[in-house]
Amino acid sequence: LPTVFTHAIAGCVAAGMLGERERPVRVWTAAVAVSVLPDADVIGFAYGVRYSDFLGHRGFFHSPFFALLLAILCVHLLFRDRRPMSRGWWAYVAVFFVAGASHGLLDAMTDGGLGIALLIPFDSGRFFFPWTPIPVAPIGLRAFLGEWGLRILVWEAVYMWAPLLALLAGVLVVRRRARSLHPVDDAEVASHDRS
Ligand SMILES: [Zn+2]
Repeated sequence: LPTVFTHAIAGCVAAGMLGERERPVRVWTAAVAVSVLPDADVIGFAYGVRYSDFLGHRGFFHSPFFALLLAILCVHLLFRDRRPMSRGWWAYVAVFFVAGASHGLLDAMTDGGLGIALLIPFDSGRFFFPWTPIPVAPIGLRAFLGEWGLRILVWEAVYMWAPLLALLAGVLVVRRRARSLHPVDDAEVASHDRS
């Protein structure tokens, strides 16, 4: 895993893709939550689940398939005003899916641990991308507080947080421009979603 911070920033990038009025605070909160949640699968270690199991670390809960289920659940629970299958509903599902799926995709670029079950439900194999530049972060807080953890934080700050925050800033600027250029379209979408 990259650290929780990298996953959280990736979640923010996803949330930033929504229009300005479409992203109240709970959108950011939920996007960050779904982007970091997959690592809660380490809880299974305490209950005898092995790393390589279907429900093990980097297994089912790290799959884009789970991210899709979680995104739908999230929209269902948090955005009840969105008519299922409407354009506004899909926009939220897409954002939470991107936030959640980003976790497994980032993990698949790390240089350690087991691979990620990216192809569930079609294949329960574990995969990495051919390019794995991200140093794997230690699991657990105690391991993290050592020199290893500190080196990882510095590496991630430079090579992950800075580019991701730049991407977030870019996304927000593009969204704002898009809105000011097409104010009528935006109003139409909003009224459509309310119907
Ligand atoms: Zn992970």
